[in-house]
Amino acid sequence: MKNTAFINNTEYAFDEGETILKFVHRIEQQNIIPTLCDAPNLDPFGSCRVCSVEVALEKNGKAKTMAACHTPVAPGQYIYPSTEAIKKLRKNIIELVLTDHPLDCLTCEVNGNCELQTVAASVGIREVRYPEGENHLDKAKDLSHPYMTSDLSKCINCYRCVRACDEVQGEFILSMAGRGFDTKIIKGTDSSFMESDCVSCGACSQACPTSAISDIFQSKAIGATEKTRTVCTYCGVGCNLEVATNNGEILSIQAPYDAEANGGHTCLKGRYAFKFYNHPDRLRTPLIKRNGKFEEASWDEAYDHIVSELNRIKADNGPDAIAGISSARTPNEENYLMQKFIRAVVGTNNIDCCARVCHSPTALGMQRSFGTGAATNSIEDIEHAQFILIIGANPTDAHPVTGAKIKQRMMKGVPSIVIDPRKIEVAKYATFHLQLTPGTNVALLNMMLYYIITENAEDASFIDNRTEGYEEFKSEILKLDMDDLAKVTGVDKTLVKEAALAYAASSAAMEFHGLGVTEHLQGTFTVQLIADLVMITGNIGKKGAGLNPLRGQNNVQGAADMGAQPHQGAGYMDVTDPEINNKYNTFYGSDEVPLHIGYKIPEMFDAAIAGDLKALWIIGEDVVQTDPNTNKVRKAMDQLELLVVQELFMTETAKHATVVLPGASFLEKEGTFTNGERRIQRVNKVVEPIKGSKSDGQIIVDVMNRMGYEQEDYTAAGVLEEISQIVPFFKGVKWEELGDNGKQWPVLEDGSDTQMLHIEEFQRGKGKFQYHDYKKSNEVERHEKDFPYIITTNRELEHYNCGAMTRRTGNVDILTEDVLLIHPEDARKERISDGDFVCVESPRGKVDIKAVLTDEMKPGILSSTFHFPEVMLNIITSDEHCTEAMCPEYKVVSCRIRKSKGKAKILAQEMDEERVS
Ligand code: SF4
Repeated sequence: MKNTAFINNTEYAFDEGETILKFVHRIEQQNIIPTLCDAPNLDPFGSCRVCSVEVALEKNGKAKTMAACHTPVAPGQYIYPSTEAIKKLRKNIIELVLTDHPLDCLTCEVNGNCELQTVAASVGIREVRYPEGENHLDKAKDLSHPYMTSDLSKCINCYRCVRACDEVQGEFILSMAGRGFDTKIIKGTDSSFMESDCVSCGACSQACPTSAISDIFQSKAIGATEKTRTVCTYCGVGCNLEVATNNGEILSIQAPYDAEANGGHTCLKGRYAFKFYNHPDRLRTPLIKRNGKFEEASWDEAYDHIVSELNRIKADNGPDAIAGISSARTPNEENYLMQKFIRAVVGTNNIDCCARVCHSPTALGMQRSFGTGAATNSIEDIEHAQFILIIGANPTDAHPVTGAKIKQRMMKGVPSIVIDPRKIEVAKYATFHLQLTPGTNVALLNMMLYYIITENAEDASFIDNRTEGYEEFKSEILKLDMDDLAKVTGVDKTLVKEAALAYAASSAAMEFHGLGVTEHLQGTFTVQLIADLVMITGNIGKKGAGLNPLRGQNNVQGAADMGAQPHQGAGYMDVTDPEINNKYNTFYGSDEVPLHIGYKIPEMFDAAIAGDLKALWIIGEDVVQTDPNTNKVRKAMDQLELLVVQELFMTETAKHATVVLPGASFLEKEGTFTNGERRIQRVNKVVEPIKGSKSDGQIIVDVMNRMGYEQEDYTAAGVLEEISQIVPFFKGVKWEELGDNGKQWPVLEDGSDTQMLHIEEFQRGKGKFQYHDYKKSNEVERHEKDFPYIITTNRELEHYNCGAMTRRTGNVDILTEDVLLIHPEDARKERISDGDFVCVESPRGKVDIKAVLTDEMKPGILSSTFHFPEVMLNIITSDEHCTEAMCPEYKVVSCRIRKSKGKAKILAQEMDEERVS
């Protein structure tokens, strides 16, 4: 039978599986069927029946009334969308809804943007014919939460909020309770937003067609005069945001439904944590430190001071006495300019960025195995994955929108492995949770590879056709003793075997990893072994598969792409290659770019302490709070003759600066961010930079010009054009052609982009198998006797990195402090109770932090975050690092614990008393 059906007796072709609603709206090119319970990012539901249409099996034949939103079109159907009977039915439904709805449109926050109001008008309601009866108009409002509100007197029981919580976020906080007329929306076990386990993503608020669930920013009100599309500044998911403004002030943020990265969803950081942008703490004037005190300065004074100091230091000590740390929070164009300034104007390769302390091992490991250090597949592929492997990543906290997608697939029964020392949220849904001891990733992956080989579960044809080095690799793996490695990892070998064989048997297994892979002594080797695992099973170069690092900061991919690293310039070209050196010098019109590799961040600190590094310029990075071994970092900062910090706030690092420059936030500037799936997206300026601040790109340009290098004033389009001429995989990127959803690199000259890498062959030709032996962490080897616990650091959903931005938003009312996660058995042993302050001591120092008892941890393993300077957890972390990429080993810190005494205890009591009052 032909796939055609009739709308008002005219025949049209329909798409397989298309609903009547979608079919009619596609053909009519307008939304002629009204809906209430339907929403663009939710499954069809068929509850409100407002979308009812008449359907007959023959022309003008006997018709049945059907809900268009969830009824698929069938061949030969005759659909009549707006008969008189249907119009009457729709009007009657809405009238009944309105009998239990306050008719206070004129004072309602969504007046003019209420879907119920619009539908009521479209079906021609002027008055409600029914007399007043029982209703729910006296329902109390829920104002418990810093962002979310509810006024259920406005609820029309469409279930959109409940479905958004289930289908989009996968949280199941909202549900319907009661029967018949008493049916109502509840949060948790009928509590408030704040008391429930709500993750504050706002999906329910965006889904609600009225103001029954809303937010403090009244994001559905029509107060905005302008809406600007931009990209979130927090994590590497790269969610598209639609920002509403009025008279240059930001009112609210919503998630566009057509965004490819996030499809109408965000987490609470993207949607709600924007009020930092005009916080009173924003830096509003340059500062110069004189006699140990900051003094306000004009931009000219600040520039003159910086330029004369840089020139003096360069003349006295050479260019390698100067270094820069660029920012993964700023756009590609600003990163490009910063590395260009350091290389072509200062004349050194001493440029790095925070990729050093997060995914530098990923970039290096993947480059060694495949030739390219970036995610092989797209976020969209999660829908096609038949198996999910998560290693050292906590996606529902650290990459919430992608995390929600992964979790949804796991909840739908897609088999999975989670390799993590903690029982993180996704571990609860995993088929296999391999809860290993921190620092033993290499041993565990070698076990998986051993079982795949010994059980003949490898993909021989992929290995033969696409890879090299396999036989040598295999012979090393076969020498391993599984009992030894099981002991090292703390994971039962039969469980590892079962998990490995399940992964190998899948037709499309998608791998994700995070900092639990990279922030180790053997970070790069772990990445290479993951690449081995992917290649040995042929899980690359196809949909729903691949090796996919979950990138931490919003533009950490872009910062590295742009050359903010000491060994590779813009476009990952080797700075020690004379031909490349010549290419960069010619392109930049300079003869300053040197041929030797510059300092990586940890080397910058060492060089500062040794007196070899005299000047450091840091953009948007709080190294004192976030880099390991705080006291050493502080010492390095204080040894410098010139420390320029370009920032939004007076961070812990800025306090050590000699010059502070007030930069602009992502909402105040333009450029592009590249997300974790290589998607280059436009960051559009929403408001002007706050008075006294400047866009970071313009600040760099100003100094370049003052140091004698002619660089045009900053525009995103202009710098992007320059980038496209030097970065090979940006060749076809043009500002005006990026559209709303951007393009995934490599972008060819004709503008076409790339959703998946390594389809026919790897970037380096053949994929390279490489074996690496497990080595015990130096930290544990040296200190386990005196410091028997291991503390591993993590990240919380509500805060971001040093928290400078999120702590200046309502997020700080949701998560108020860093805490120490400790297993009840360890707590008993150390006589620590839940809520006690604990002194955690490592070979570097000690901190006091509140204990939370949880069996999320293994005995002997502790965990915490470093979002709050009050705790300053990095005082105890070690500056041991990955042997290859110099990424610090944040995940394995030897320590001992005891109940706090003295000052910390008093502090804890004071804080508790303050909270109670
Ligand atoms: Fe999306 Fe990440 Fe921003 Fe949350 S923090 S809105 S997941 S980009």
